[in-house]
Amino acid sequence: MTTFVLATHNAHKVVELRRILGDRLGPHDLVGYDGPAPVEDGETFEANALIKARAAHAHTGLPALADDSGIAVAALGGAPGIDSAHYSGQRDDAANLNLLLRNLVGVADRNATFVCAAALVDVQSEYTARGEWPGDVLTEPAGAGGFGYDPIFRPEGETRSSAELSPAEKDADSHRARAFIALTTELRRRYG
Ligand code: IMP
Repeated sequence: MTTFVLATHNAHKVVELRRILGDRLGPHDLVGYDGPAPVEDGETFEANALIKARAAHAHTGLPALADDSGIAVAALGGAPGIDSAHYSGQRDDAANLNLLLRNLVGVADRNATFVCAAALVDVQSEYTARGEWPGDVLTEPAGAGGFGYDPIFRPEGETRSSAELSPAEKDADSHRARAFIALTTELRRRYG
């Protein structure tokens, strides 16, 4: 049995990741990370996920898992992308979501993709996996579940926003689930 450290301070992501990883971790255990947060100055989701996982691995000595995620809007050239958490200049979900709605007023192409890069860093090597969840941006928020941009994101093939999906429905398809299911396949290959 191996103990992994989950390198995120975002409580919403921890809840989702514990749900997604659940049984897929097999005999292994997951602990939270409360060490220093590194500067996320990578230029891609993968680079930032690796920065977080490396920091947690260096601080704890444990193999580390991390997530970097965001929403990429086609008509905005992929923005807010890796800047999703502080798009408005603040780490404030409501302010970020409202700025995105304002920036899309009058824009016909509302296609967007939630992106998640999952990273695993241990003494042996580094590994990343990407998950994407395509959809579009609604014109106004709907639903009270989830977090971040969920109230204004409608997954492809859905009539509801991702904040209106049940946790199980979100986990069945989300960018985070797709990335971490791939990551756990690698993790089980290495650790059994
Ligand atoms: P990070 O902590 O730098 O990876 O920030 C990711 C940001 O992207 C979050 O603060 C949210 O604003 C947004 N985000 C990522 N995943 C989701 C999701 O599943 N639902 C809604 N917003 C998300």
